[in-house]
Amino acid sequence: MTEKAEFARQREKMVSKQIEKRGIHSQRVLAAMRAVPRHEFVPYEYQKNAYEDRPILIGKKQTISQPYIVALMTQLLELQAEDTVLEIGTGSGYQAAVLAELAGHVYTVAPHQELARNARAVMDTLNIHNVTLHQGDGSEGWPEHAPYNAIMVTAAAPEAPRPLLAQLREGGRLVIPVGGAGAQYLQVWRKKMGKYDHETIVPVSFVPLRGKLGWEEDWVK
Ligand code: SAH
Repeated sequence: MTEKAEFARQREKMVSKQIEKRGIHSQRVLAAMRAVPRHEFVPYEYQKNAYEDRPILIGKKQTISQPYIVALMTQLLELQAEDTVLEIGTGSGYQAAVLAELAGHVYTVAPHQELARNARAVMDTLNIHNVTLHQGDGSEGWPEHAPYNAIMVTAAAPEAPRPLLAQLREGGRLVIPVGGAGAQYLQVWRKKMGKYDHETIVPVSFVPLRGKLGWEEDWVK
């Protein structure tokens, strides 16, 4: 079997065992998880672990989330093909690539130039052209391209930042882990008739969101 076919086999197994079986039902999300080659986004030495049921270190004390969490957060955004999405926390670019499969355009913000460059290079080799990367603090969003149909934050914040809520379009969704080192919960916010309400979904474990509306302390050792 070629390496590519072997990774495709592992990816198929990841989707059926870890994602579909745990209740992710959106066919569009399952198709996106089948389509994006996760191993291309992880450092070479971890490629063999890319389809395992766990997060993976990508350098600079950062991780790509467990596949199930990527799928769950993506499903919660309820993306339509024409949607404009903002992601805070580009990391490897894997989550952005999954969003790019499902939406019209993805804007993603990251503080580390080196990781952002790497993410861009991988997306270029995969011919992903509907993602725009920006280096900077994303805790206040990216107002230039607002409003967004959906916003995803992939680092844990002290609370849902007001500027992010303000950058949602009417009917828009924000998915964000909220909490500190010990206790974090995934929240989904919705903008309805100019008001916001939210639901709490599951406990999660993310690295801290830093920057102006993030945490001052880094709890990752
Ligand atoms: N979504 C990524 C994983 C993100 S890990 C992937 O698919 O690989 C969390 C990321 O949030 C880290 O890369 C970290 O640098 C980033 N981050 C932390 N604070 C941030 C901020 N204020 N603005 C933008 N990104 C931030």
